[in-house]
Amino acid sequence: MRTRLPPAEALRVVLETTPVLGSETVPLRAALGRVLAESVAASRDLPPVDNSAMDGYAVRREDVSTASAARPVALRVAFELAAGASAEGAVAAGQAARVLTGAPIPPGADAVVRQEDTERDGDRLSVRVAPAPREHIRDAGEDVRAGEEVLVAGAVVGPAQVGMLAALGRSLVAVHQRPRVAILSGGDELVEPDGAISGGRIVSSNSYSLAAQCQELGAEPVYLGIARDTPEDLERRFRAGLGAHVLVSSAGVSVGDRDYVRAVLEKLGCELLFWGVEMKPGFPLAFGRFAGAGGALVFGLPGNPVSAMVSFEQFARPALRKMAGRRRWFRPTLQAVVAERLAKKPGRLHFVRVELERCDGRVIARSTGSQSSGVLRSMTGARGLLVFPAEATELREGDTATVQVLDPDFFASGDPGF
Ligand code: AMP
Ligand code: MG
Repeated sequence: MRTRLPPAEALRVVLETTPVLGSETVPLRAALGRVLAESVAASRDLPPVDNSAMDGYAVRREDVSTASAARPVALRVAFELAAGASAEGAVAAGQAARVLTGAPIPPGADAVVRQEDTERDGDRLSVRVAPAPREHIRDAGEDVRAGEEVLVAGAVVGPAQVGMLAALGRSLVAVHQRPRVAILSGGDELVEPDGAISGGRIVSSNSYSLAAQCQELGAEPVYLGIARDTPEDLERRFRAGLGAHVLVSSAGVSVGDRDYVRAVLEKLGCELLFWGVEMKPGFPLAFGRFAGAGGALVFGLPGNPVSAMVSFEQFARPALRKMAGRRRWFRPTLQAVVAERLAKKPGRLHFVRVELERCDGRVIARSTGSQSSGVLRSMTGARGLLVFPAEATELREGDTATVQVLDPDFFASGDPGF
């Protein structure tokens, strides 16, 4: 097992080890946010037939080529077509067909005149404009032609893709499986949020933050509960999670007397690929995999609440996005201006939790305060993680640094842009 990896190297190992999950067929209504595992070719033209873009009259252009407001042309309204009707009759010379928006264009007609450009009295119609060829007609196949590839495998299904699949008659669609993540917290001091806090007990907040991180990225968390600090209890609970794609545990992975996670994982047949990443927060991170096809990946995260979240963010999140079939695995990054001097010792990369603020076209990053790995407040206030490189010792006020943007709402706006 390798130890003390630089973060980039640890990430490389994680991503190399991570498989892309296979596909499953889901109802279209459940497909939002999933990744297509099939390319989709159109089974039909869209729209399926030539149809009217306006409420008006389908006409023969040659009949009305001289029409103007001063010299309207008279036609006879032969029949009417609403959206969804099928065009049976044809428009003969001297005739028009009343058409509503979406109605099929009957044979013989080659343009639509808007209702506003006509006057009607019974079946007599007077047309005051000469339409251009195929004016106000939406041609069959102008959106999509039958046989054309419309969506490609690997595309993320958003609302427009859902609509397109529906329009093409697809009520089922093949997408990559959703990673199932078994989450285990370990520690004799831990209780559930409604448990009694006495004698140094604390709530297992990691059980919640890590499950929420899974949900946020579209993975499915499965909670394995709190393991006591004994090899037996850890083993029993880890076993319960072996059917998941990924096991995520927090705590018990360091070098303390009761840190049994690594030993128990190895006993269960997990191959540990590394332990220890040169970063802060989150140094004591173990990563491994169980043998065989479909063998679960394991992230043994540190126990401190911030370390657990930041390690998940840097390693488990990209791995889970890869598993889910996504092509882009990382948060958006930007260059931000450092608001106040930051200093550290060389050797480890720091992920500084920062507030982000837009100012004169630049983004200003300011530390959220105490950067201790137990201070969860540093995360609740953080819109981003500032990358303070391993060998750097100082970032001065006004320097620029790379920031991973955690908060999707950072790109939201109070201004509609129009
Ligand atoms: P450990 O790795 O077991 O030494 O844990 C490191 C620190 O993280 C200790 O202060 C633990 O109390 C804390 N901790 C461990 N697990 C959790 C958890 N599930 N939720 C919140 N804090 C935890
Ligand atoms: Mg512990």
